[in-house]
Amino acid sequence: MKKTILLALAALLSLTCAAKMRYTVELDTVGRYLNVHLLYTASEPGQQHVELQMPVWAPGYYDIINYPKYLTDFSATRTDGTPLPWQKFRRSTWIVDMGGADTIVVTYRTYANKMDVADSRIRPEGAFIAPNGTFMYENGHKLEPVEVSYNVPANWKHVSSGLRPVAGTTSSFIVPDFDILYDSPLLMGNHFVDKFQHKGHEYEFAFDPGDDYEGSTFKKDFLAMVDACTDIMKEVPYDNYCLINMQGIGGGLEHLNSQADYSSGTFTAPDRADYIRLLDFIAHEYFHLYNVKRIRPIELGPFDYSQEAFTPLLWFSEGFTSYYSALLLRRGGIISAEELLGIYSNYISAIETHEGQRHMSLRQSSYDIWLDFMGDNANYRKVAISYYNKGAYMGLLFDAKIRCVTNGERSLDDFMRLLYQRYYQQLQRGFTEEEFWQALHEVMGTTTEAADATILLRRICDTTDPIDYDALLSPVAISLNHDNWALTLDQKAPKKAIKLRKALLGE
Ligand SMILES: [Zn+2]
Repeated sequence: MKKTILLALAALLSLTCAAKMRYTVELDTVGRYLNVHLLYTASEPGQQHVELQMPVWAPGYYDIINYPKYLTDFSATRTDGTPLPWQKFRRSTWIVDMGGADTIVVTYRTYANKMDVADSRIRPEGAFIAPNGTFMYENGHKLEPVEVSYNVPANWKHVSSGLRPVAGTTSSFIVPDFDILYDSPLLMGNHFVDKFQHKGHEYEFAFDPGDDYEGSTFKKDFLAMVDACTDIMKEVPYDNYCLINMQGIGGGLEHLNSQADYSSGTFTAPDRADYIRLLDFIAHEYFHLYNVKRIRPIELGPFDYSQEAFTPLLWFSEGFTSYYSALLLRRGGIISAEELLGIYSNYISAIETHEGQRHMSLRQSSYDIWLDFMGDNANYRKVAISYYNKGAYMGLLFDAKIRCVTNGERSLDDFMRLLYQRYYQQLQRGFTEEEFWQALHEVMGTTTEAADATILLRRICDTTDPIDYDALLSPVAISLNHDNWALTLDQKAPKKAIKLRKALLGE
């Protein structure tokens, strides 16, 4: 009896100490494969089979990537190497017959040779790992811990990510669940690393390469942007943050406490416009920490990695993030009010000079992004719009309207804080489309003017109706040239309007 209890206790301890899914990953730097080894322990006694599933998309990247297309040489065995039968089911599920075993071994290889933030890439000198296309979860058990250990070549000095390695290791991790695992890409190799503390939080810059970083103003400017962001949201939602930046074709992806980017920008800024573009790009991915990772439409989490997550509000999640990324640079004292308006002008021009705006609303562009994420349709500009561009200047129009209706008492910052505090901090969920518009109305107050303003802004987002820019921007002393879509400061506007603009643009 006593022995039975001890055995049961030992079994319980082993369950709590070791995840039932334990991955080891070998890096084939010549063939450019990730060789994945999974030790799987049954979820329950007498389990007949296990369904292993690989995601087909990555949150933040609203496209079906079909990661299983990179996978080859799948096999399942008992721990003694005896093969077990398995079958593929639809596009991303493997069903393995456990054959009465409690623990089995699953192995497969994934080809990793694509320069994209949602894909893994291995080279002799380093590797970028996109976990979505590397690891399978067990259907129905996605929120359970998982162990991952990478066998990194001995001459690689760094493993950079938002994850904390197991004590005494640099490349072994115990991750609370697969949502966090999939949200934690890694950069390994001999890239440039700068680790530092700022206001009680740890930061790691992982740059490949980082040749022109030393002596640049990048760290100072990045932290000024971070502080401007903290001023808005009143909370820093991480202990540690990792910024991965790799040289390559553009593209960035936001994560829970990191971002991974390919960019062609430089830190030394011989061309100021190039440098500002790089900062704006990195600030965009940083602001996503709040807007989309935590302030989110209800469809964007918890994630179903097996199919699309359709939402009508990506124009808010992406566009307002672009509105804020530039605004953060202004509030951080990095760019001028004129430079800020220049960035917003480009967004207006990108929409107003193409026919697509007459055929697709912001709402529709969000919902239908899964049909054409890359804009591959040759007819794209005639029938579609980018919610990044139109959504960004909607941020300006929202901010202007809120400030006007509330006589400068409230701003878009109050709206973002309300969503953050109510839905992320208190309710711990996303918001519905109706809740989004109700929150906007609430921020502007209970007046008829607030109700009318909500209806107006919603109509602009949900339809292709022309926008009366002058009516929306002149009360905040901003002019729009309808010939070249340039925004300028209207210094002849009434004092009240100029006062609102100064608060908006931080003049
Ligand atoms: Zn984004």
